[in-house]
Amino acid sequence: VTGRCGVFVDGRWLDRKGVPLEVVNPATEEVIADVSQAQHPDVDAAVAAARAAFPLWAHTTPAERRQLLAGIEQGLEERSEELARTVTAEIGSPLWFSRSAQVGLAIAGVRALREALADGIPDERVGDALVVSEPVGVVAAITPWNFPLHQIVQKVIAALAAGCTVVLKPSELAPLSAIAFTEVLDKAGLPPGVVNLLIGAGPIVGERLARHDGIEMVSFTGSTATGRRVGAAAMAGIKKVTLELGGKSANLLLDDCDWSTVVPKAVRQCFANSGQTCVAFSRLLVPDDHVGEVEELCRDAARSWAPGNPQAEGVLMGPLVSRSLRARVRTYIASGIAQGARRVSDEAVELPERGWYVAPTVFGDVTPAMTIAREEIFGPVLSVMPYRDVDEAVAVANDTPYGLSGGVWSADTGRAVAIARRLCTGEVAINGAELELAAPFGGRRRSGHGREGGRHGILEFLESKTLLGAA
Ligand code: NDP
Repeated sequence: VTGRCGVFVDGRWLDRKGVPLEVVNPATEEVIADVSQAQHPDVDAAVAAARAAFPLWAHTTPAERRQLLAGIEQGLEERSEELARTVTAEIGSPLWFSRSAQVGLAIAGVRALREALADGIPDERVGDALVVSEPVGVVAAITPWNFPLHQIVQKVIAALAAGCTVVLKPSELAPLSAIAFTEVLDKAGLPPGVVNLLIGAGPIVGERLARHDGIEMVSFTGSTATGRRVGAAAMAGIKKVTLELGGKSANLLLDDCDWSTVVPKAVRQCFANSGQTCVAFSRLLVPDDHVGEVEELCRDAARSWAPGNPQAEGVLMGPLVSRSLRARVRTYIASGIAQGARRVSDEAVELPERGWYVAPTVFGDVTPAMTIAREEIFGPVLSVMPYRDVDEAVAVANDTPYGLSGGVWSADTGRAVAIARRLCTGEVAINGAELELAAPFGGRRRSGHGREGGRHGILEFLESKTLLGAA
């Protein structure tokens, strides 16, 4: 598709003349679309439109906003198959995963936010004071490519639910799903200016947006390095900032696990979406007298993750999103070998001729000091790390600058929960539990701050005002 408009401001699609953005399918390396990009003046126009739309939108009732959210949910459902195919074409997620996790999560996320508005946004009495909640204002939402629709929903729909207006800057690697999402919002009857879309490069459009004086809050999801930069740009104007950043999650297997059941699931928790998930459980902590058995099961499980055409049925894993990410992941694999890790998975994996594929890789003999155990790889690379006792396992799990997610597996749930309480992360999955979209999601330490999802996600976009003597 040529000539797609990537700029939606004040309810209108604007065709821009500059250099278009080429969208490349990572499975074929072919250009599948080009999209017109926003220029600096478009950032100013989008912020102005969102500011102009704010007073009316902020005064809609939660019930009115819920109704609009229901229309958006329905619009996404109507286009769900097309959206899944778009995400697969843009980022290479296997089609089954695009349907279930990419689009499925996005729709379920809208539903969770809509349901969280069911009781409105109640005032609170504190002594003689009445504490009321108000939308924070105009929000800049900057999102990554790995779960393009889900990340957009968690910000844009939560901000709308709170009564904020939004300027969205999605990843330049996944503009087509963001355009389709904006069309759904427009069709659902969102007033002009309430949500504006700017396709464009991060350092140009994103940075100007984060710095813009007309923005009151920046909600960012992406890498820790970019988050630091975006946070600094936003803080120059003392804006409210939430950051959902990278991770290096540990998955603790306790000694009472049923290994043949647990290990394939643990491998999946690392390899899903080709390892390109912020929560990827990339460190597998195993009691040292079970390491041999676990490594063998990992090798077998990795075989079922052989990469292939993401459009084909039965393919669990597609390519990585870009040539540059593949180069980065290969460098990490080489560093693992150079630093003394032992490759447990098959070395000779047949990869499709074209496309940015990488073999799923499991390493044994990984020590906490190795680069592959410390840095976020964002590819299908799993490190098996032995531990002697539970205290050591907890210490290793927490020995990371990150604090996003983690897992604990045990036949005794109470034992697993006790360990989970000792992990310094925003969430812990007990025995492979799935994401709960109505519960808060977010990180600690270098994984960022702020929470997304359901009621907690909406609260981030509200400010309290204390009316003394009003109660
Ligand atoms: P990046 O940090 O590269 O980019 C994220 C967004 O920031 C993109 O829209 C990007 O635009 C934009 N951007 C880049 N530079 C700037 C800048 N100087 N100013 C403003 N905006 C900028 O991350 P990726 O897209 O590569 O996503 C992968 C990362 O996201 C991983 O580290 C992953 O862990 C993290 N992530 C965290 C999640 C969480 O909830 N904690 C969830 C999902 C991912 P452009 O694409 O145009 O460069």
